[in-house]
Amino acid sequence: GVEVEGVPVTALERHAELSELVEEANWRYYVLDSPTVSDAQYDGWMRELRALEEEHPSLRTPDSPTQKVGAPISTEFAPVAHLSRMESLDNAFNADDLASWQARAERLAEQDPGPYLCELKIDGLAISLVYEKGRLVRGATRGDGRVGDDVTANVRTIADIPQRLTGDDVPDLVEVRGEVYMPVAEFAELNEQLVAAGKPPFANPRNSAAGSLRQKDPRITAQRPLRMIVHGIGVWEGAVRPRAQSEIYDRLRAFGLPVSDLYRLVDDLDGINGYVEHYREHRHDPAYEIDGVVVKVDRIDLQRNLGSTSRAPRWAIAYKYPPEEVNTKLLDIQVGV
Ligand code: NAD
Repeated sequence: GVEVEGVPVTALERHAELSELVEEANWRYYVLDSPTVSDAQYDGWMRELRALEEEHPSLRTPDSPTQKVGAPISTEFAPVAHLSRMESLDNAFNADDLASWQARAERLAEQDPGPYLCELKIDGLAISLVYEKGRLVRGATRGDGRVGDDVTANVRTIADIPQRLTGDDVPDLVEVRGEVYMPVAEFAELNEQLVAAGKPPFANPRNSAAGSLRQKDPRITAQRPLRMIVHGIGVWEGAVRPRAQSEIYDRLRAFGLPVSDLYRLVDDLDGINGYVEHYREHRHDPAYEIDGVVVKVDRIDLQRNLGSTSRAPRWAIAYKYPPEEVNTKLLDIQVGV
């Protein structure tokens, strides 16, 4: 077939077509809070993109959707530059993917990278909170990882989020990262209210949380049952630095921030697999929707050694469970995919 610089035109065209589909889906999902394709469909496009780029590395340009986080922000909110970058997570879909992630971490760290912190992957939206001298001064969405939407007035309405940090050794400046979510029962109740009021319901709890947080009028956000759970930090200045992910959680809990009590430290791959299998069986036990499990190298010095790619840390991996049939089928039927 015809080639351009060694890449078959069919591959070039498919790559361009998939990139466009993904960018369009990103816009609808991240900016409009109203996706029109299922996550399974979206993940399928991304897998095909990555496979094409694996085969033809010249297609992997910095502007490819495989190299970026989220989507550019909307013009509805003021832009906020994050003090440190907000990243995405690489995915694992089976035990082999987990094993290769662990093996690579061990090779790069040149030592056993354990213990690992296993936690739930909450299906909400990422938030960054800035506390100066213990006072909440800013709340922002992830955006493209460097610049997010300023939603400070909206996050102030969320009861889980303290306006002031309490306790000892509070940093002078800290970025707290976490997930804003809507519990499943409250999501169902809100949708009933919306339908009764003649308004369109949300597709799922994730979109309901995103749409509720990103309201122009914070009084609407205040009426929405939003919750938050922390899952990391950005900058941390003017206090003793935590040496482990689990220590970050202990410190944040002591400051009055909402920390999950469902995370576990495990020593090795067997322990990771045990946690993944437990929550595959107990996926609906938590009050919120989860789409998988996140595994993190606990030691911060090793996190630093391992570093990040252009879009995700090498010291963490998201194990994604298969999508739940009911929701995704509904969405795909709606848009006729
Ligand atoms: P991701 O959701 O796979 O993983 C990264 C995010 O996980 C983080 O930003 C954070 O917000 C979240 N997270 C939840 N619990 C966490 C924890 N314990 N620790 C750390 N992070 C945690 O990646 P992404 O880049 O946010 O989104 C990509 C995914 O979004 C796709 O795989 C797809 O499922 C969905 N998506 C769907 C559409 C669509 O049209 N349906 C469009 C875009 C994206």
